[in-house]
Amino acid sequence: MIEDNYRAVEKRVNDACKAVGRDPKEVTLIAVSKTKPLSDIEKLIAIGVREFGENKVQEMKDKFDNVSTPVNFHLIGHLQTNKVKYAVGRACMIHSLDSYHLAEAIEKEAAKKDVTVPVLIEVNVAEEDSKFGLKTEEVLPLINEIKDFPHIKIEGLMTIAPFVENPEDNRPVFRTLKQLLLDIKSKNIDNVSMNVLSMGMTNDFEIAIEEGATMVRVGTAIFGERDYSI
Ligand SMILES: *Cc1c(COP(=O)(O)O)cnc(C)c1O
Repeated sequence: MIEDNYRAVEKRVNDACKAVGRDPKEVTLIAVSKTKPLSDIEKLIAIGVREFGENKVQEMKDKFDNVSTPVNFHLIGHLQTNKVKYAVGRACMIHSLDSYHLAEAIEKEAAKKDVTVPVLIEVNVAEEDSKFGLKTEEVLPLINEIKDFPHIKIEGLMTIAPFVENPEDNRPVFRTLKQLLLDIKSKNIDNVSMNVLSMGMTNDFEIAIEEGATMVRVGTAIFGERDYSI
């Protein structure tokens, strides 16, 4: 069931790539397993899936520490500085860097553990009050402040687009993020690569792929609805 859902989403990713002449290898499908049991993750591991996404650091830690096979866990949710110690050394990438303060905490922990942490800057493109992330004009200033942190590797940008009925409505959001990525990339800043664009979820990942996403984060279409009442 979950396996079939994954295959169906994978096919849609491939089809969306082909429709705009992109190589499906350019797009990583992240299975967002938040709130779901480890047994669901194991089912996907059994069919070869290796990229998972979690939004809560404690839950990511529990799953990372108990999973049968080493897999990649992407931390996609808001990270508080006091929980950075659980993320560094476990998350293969932190998608939600959104302040100097957090970057400092990650740098410190990564130096202590002697690891380098790939990060994406989270951008609140639509400037929704309910969401974390920087405004577009704040992104380059933050990058300039943290680019010399030796244990942080800035690899790109991430956004959580608004919840909309018609996914087409998010196309301008994705386009804006891609343009921002290209603008920053063109500055050729040392230690900043800007090759990763994490955008698109269950409702809008095909549009995100058409607009240049290199990582899509899909939960509901793979694992089913989440139950937050339990
Ligand atoms: C939950 C979540 C997703 C997946 O959402 P779906 O709509 O279930 O696909 C993607 N990104 C982030 C940051 C999330 O928190």
